[in-house]
Amino acid sequence: MKRNWEGVVLKVMGAKDFTLEVTGKDEITPDFLRVHVRDGGLLERSGLHPTMWIRLWFDDAGKAHQRAYTLVNASPADGTFSMDFALHNGVAADWARSVQPGDTIDATVQGSSFTFPQPVPRRIWVVGDPASIPAINSLLDERNLTAAGAAPVTAWLEYQHDADPSLQVRTSESDVVTWVPRKRDGAALVEEVCDALTAGTVSVEEDFFWIACEASSTRAIVKHLRKTLGVDKHRIDALGYWRV
Ligand SMILES: Cc1cc2nc3c(=O)[nH]c(=O)nc-3n(C[C@H](O)[C@H](O)[C@H](O)COP(=O)(O)OP(=O)(O)OC[C@H]3O[C@@H](n4cnc5c(N)ncnc54)[C@H](O)[C@@H]3O)c2cc1C
Repeated sequence: MKRNWEGVVLKVMGAKDFTLEVTGKDEITPDFLRVHVRDGGLLERSGLHPTMWIRLWFDDAGKAHQRAYTLVNASPADGTFSMDFALHNGVAADWARSVQPGDTIDATVQGSSFTFPQPVPRRIWVVGDPASIPAINSLLDERNLTAAGAAPVTAWLEYQHDADPSLQVRTSESDVVTWVPRKRDGAALVEEVCDALTAGTVSVEEDFFWIACEASSTRAIVKHLRKTLGVDKHRIDALGYWRV
């Protein structure tokens, strides 16, 4: 499988390569699969942090396609982790549908980093969808560890499948999650979020914003935060997780 220029650039940047071996998979919903892997030494060499993601190399007729996936239930002691696949039509999603125990896939670690904001934010505002639920859950776990009882989360999660709102989001009592059906190419989510995030509800000085949904929606929400509300970029962690 031939990697394109991305593989060359990652090598130059000192990226670490690993081969993961699939040990099994579980259907969480008809549109969301969890694939379990042995890590090929990845956790020992790369460590682990909240929201950690890796680059997987999927083979499509001999051509390599790189896609990002988030670590779930990682166990450095056992050298294992899982990855959750939100299903649609794509090489990565198709791989998850058909993969069998014993299959392998190459992975590269480069570019993922996150430390929980300090001082602890007054509130964390989150926007995501099933693709970013694994990262959101690790963010919630980290909040519970480092700031138990503080930094309540208000989250909007966009969904496209009826079963999506049944996906587990590890909130605590002070958190609020609103599921928003994807409508008008994501405009419904952007409007609902931007209408709620105003100078009256947000503390520009004390809040933190974690945004990971479709790329153009992510950009629109970040623009609202930066340009309309004047939020400092250090208070925003935003990354488009997929593209229409
Ligand atoms: C840092 C990071 C971490 C990520 N972690 C995860 C994760 O843990 N689990 C996960 O499921 N995804 C995750 N993603 C998103 C995932 O990398 C993308 O969805 C990726 O494009 C899927 O590749 P594909 O080959 O299946 O589809 P592609 O070939 O990229 O796209 C094929 C078609 O499917 C559509 N599509 C792609 N992704 C989605 C989606 N999520 N929802 C709806 N339609 C989609 C595209 O618009 C296109 O029409 C992450 C992305 C980033 C940047």
